[in-house]
Amino acid sequence: MRHRAKATRHNRTITVDFCDESTYFQVLSDGKAFVEFVLAFILALGFQLAHKPTCRGGGCLTRHSHYARVRLGGLTLWRIQCTTCKAVFTVLPHFVLRYRTMQPAVARDALIATHGGLSLAWCAVICHISPMALYRVLCAFGQHNVVTVLTRCGLPLPTYILADEKHSRCLAERVYLPTIVRGRVIWHLGYSASKSAAAFTESYGVFQRAALEHEPSYQVRGALTDGFDSTVSSMRTLFPGARLGFCLRHALNKLPDKLIGVSASVRQGLRSKFHALLHRCRQRKSLRVVALGQRLRHLAMRIATTVGEKHGERVRQWFQAKKAGWYAVLEDPQMPAMSTMLDQAHNAIDRKLFAMKGFHHPGGAQAAFLTGLAHLYNLIPYQRRALNAGQCGVEVEGGRVPTSDWMLNLQILTSGGFR
Ligand SMILES: [Zn+2]
Repeated sequence: MRHRAKATRHNRTITVDFCDESTYFQVLSDGKAFVEFVLAFILALGFQLAHKPTCRGGGCLTRHSHYARVRLGGLTLWRIQCTTCKAVFTVLPHFVLRYRTMQPAVARDALIATHGGLSLAWCAVICHISPMALYRVLCAFGQHNVVTVLTRCGLPLPTYILADEKHSRCLAERVYLPTIVRGRVIWHLGYSASKSAAAFTESYGVFQRAALEHEPSYQVRGALTDGFDSTVSSMRTLFPGARLGFCLRHALNKLPDKLIGVSASVRQGLRSKFHALLHRCRQRKSLRVVALGQRLRHLAMRIATTVGEKHGERVRQWFQAKKAGWYAVLEDPQMPAMSTMLDQAHNAIDRKLFAMKGFHHPGGAQAAFLTGLAHLYNLIPYQRRALNAGQCGVEVEGGRVPTSDWMLNLQILTSGGFR
């Protein structure tokens, strides 16, 4: 009940980096200095405050009221108010989490352990917090849409996307996580109890709505999938103008399945032929599509002569069903050709889902929990020896993060009071 009452109120909390705690206590006693500090911080970020819809901002901000947070040892928090629209913003210093007694430093350790694949229970042991507390922290960050956070980092909405669903389990039930990835960042990590096209459309629609809210003219130019029916048709419904491609690597891995009963070495040989074929078509700058049609016919013929007409026919039919998706990839040089990045994201998430028993209960806040995981995936920097070491996914994709501290970035970027 507590949660529901809060959700209806507009969250205008902003997390402000006061560098260290003593600075905060210094400016607390001086109203003018306090407002100036906050304004300078917002200006440096290049963010704007979420005023009321009728307000154009630009008015004055004054210190409005303060209150003491008993659970934080009586820490004084100030609110500031816009003199024009009367919107009130709660200023949270960086060393406090919204509605939580848990310190950011504790949450940071637990979240990084979680991100590294440690179970909620084990994270709780090493960080001296309850598994439920950690689960709730993740869900709290997950209340904020991924699209909002990523666009705050200056990333443009993705015009070419990878879309695919991850199969998982909630207790004994099968569940699906429709996912959208562009490069190294997850733009959507949804949750669906059904694998129907309608359910997937609903989930991917959450991403579309958030994107349109940010940019009403937003359009997807191309989407790459593995060819799963529900994913394909939900893409077609939501992004009618988009080119729909099928992953070429997925196609390569599927070919041997079409040749059941054929010896492994022969199947491998034909797969290499198919690989060379797709590779050569991708390299051609012009006439890629014409070349593909011709070469597919030749390959099917070759399969028929080496392993028999029955196999040849099966492969021919499969080519027929899938080739439009491969054409779509080859027609547009900007189209992603392989869903490798999405598979990597899914593998990373998979380890957490497996390790986290907290996820697996029917009454859980799965959507928020998964969004929280997506934030971690996007914002936690890669390890020392990794490619792009020290940078997070957002930075690798050309986005900017507010500070060099990922935890603080997570706090700032998921603040409800910024626009
Ligand atoms: Zn205002």
